[in-house]
Amino acid sequence: MKIQSNEKIETLKNNVKGQIVLPDDPNYDEVRKIWNAMIDRRPAVIVQCAEADDVLHAISYARGNKLEISIRGGGHNIAGSALCDNGLLIDFSNMTTVSVDAQKRRAYVEPGATLGDFDKAVQVHGMATPVGINSTTGIAGLTLGGGFGWLTRKYGMTIDNLVSAEMVTADGRKIRASENENEDLFWAIRGGGGNFGVITQFEFALYPVGPEILAGLLVFPMDQAKQVLQKYREFVKTAPEELNIWVVIRKAPPLPFLPEDVHGKEVVVLAVFYAGNIAEGEKLIDPLRSFGDTYGEHIGAQPYGQWQQAFDPLLTPGARNYWKSHNLTELSDGLMDSIIEFAGKLPSPHCEIFLPLMSGAANRVPSDAMAYGHRDAQFVLNVHGRWDEAAQDATCIAWAREFFEVSAPYASTGAYVNFMSGDEGDRVAAAYGVNYERLQQIKKKYDPENIFHNNQNIKA
Ligand SMILES: Cc1cc2nc3c(=O)[nH]c(=O)nc-3n(C[C@H](O)[C@H](O)[C@H](O)COP(=O)(O)OP(=O)(O)OC[C@H]3O[C@@H](n4cnc5c(N)ncnc54)[C@H](O)[C@@H]3O)c2cc1C
Repeated sequence: MKIQSNEKIETLKNNVKGQIVLPDDPNYDEVRKIWNAMIDRRPAVIVQCAEADDVLHAISYARGNKLEISIRGGGHNIAGSALCDNGLLIDFSNMTTVSVDAQKRRAYVEPGATLGDFDKAVQVHGMATPVGINSTTGIAGLTLGGGFGWLTRKYGMTIDNLVSAEMVTADGRKIRASENENEDLFWAIRGGGGNFGVITQFEFALYPVGPEILAGLLVFPMDQAKQVLQKYREFVKTAPEELNIWVVIRKAPPLPFLPEDVHGKEVVVLAVFYAGNIAEGEKLIDPLRSFGDTYGEHIGAQPYGQWQQAFDPLLTPGARNYWKSHNLTELSDGLMDSIIEFAGKLPSPHCEIFLPLMSGAANRVPSDAMAYGHRDAQFVLNVHGRWDEAAQDATCIAWAREFFEVSAPYASTGAYVNFMSGDEGDRVAAAYGVNYERLQQIKKKYDPENIFHNNQNIKA
């Protein structure tokens, strides 16, 4: 590791309002921890920003000392791009404020805010916008890659609701990107990841949601998976966009509403969310119960903010993770067979196959409207390899890779960069498809030296 000269570090410390954390500091290991325990990198300098100007100093210091840069929002990215070895980490963990203008239905969000911070602040006003399903995920990385969750069928992706962003560019300018200012940059950051600059504030549109919504789980036996999936495929074709249903296939966790002898067995779970009138929602979801012989269910009216944390216990930090994903324009019978085959060989109790449902508002945005272009995706196939011990690395990674290969013939083109692992750099151009060339041009304009390369990197 490069040793930073005391004098230079002291100047940086004096310049920033936030904290500088160095390898000898007692909190260094805690500060550099991220969600995926497989990633263990040691930055030479961590700048824990307290305000946007700290980013200017951090970039200037990194450039002056030839240090590479990484940026941490919520630290969830599976590829671990928030961290770099021997470089400078711009850490937003202490910038988590979310301010709401209820009249204008806008939220102004600092880049270290988690989805939990966001939901909590906006739900005070009975509002929300589409974000992901795990409350400890960072709003920054999620938004820059695209962002989708329970409200996506109704209100689109997170980027579809991004109104503007304040940024620091590679050459140290503080600028704003929106439909009216630096439009090319605004186009690029909506899906193009952290390639174009450092976001210091996001502005989002909000909608009235909740406070109560209808949500919960229906759990079916694995030997009924094919019929459940086929009936699900038909049902969602005509389901209203207020209703979202994701399929989760995994070994049953010890949920209190499931009989004990089901715990640890492979199951098919329908995770149901309805953001409308509760009584209407109850009627609407009733047919799901006839998809098979349920092992159990737990569905009811609950606060939106509570459901936004429902999957947190299954997605805690500290486990080892390797993910793969495909976009899907349809859920074919052949894919169902592959899902069932690989569900039969889950290599750890935490591995799972997630099928988020995308159809709706997100599909009505033209594919060249912004960097994220997969507007034909009806579903996403997300292969979550997840386990505890390093000794299981090879087996769990092999399971995810093999399933990814076998399911590839059923996938559409492109990929969601936020679900790509660290070894998928050669998939980036394909992930962006026809939008890649324009992204390269914008990269050349705003970051010609590629100082922001710890990401799914767009090479000019
Ligand atoms: C458990 C779990 C659940 C998830 N669920 C969903 C889901 O429901 N829906 C969904 O769409 N995605 C989901 N994701 C994927 C998630 O969107 C990505 O992992 C995302 O990158 C996380 O953002 P972060 O800020 O926490 O990550 P970080 O690791 O902190 O950042 C990721 C990258 O984003 C860039 N970045 C971060 N902050 C900034 C900034 N301020 N300026 C410029 N660049 C920046 C950097 O390149 C950084 O390397 C999930 C991930 C996990 C691990």
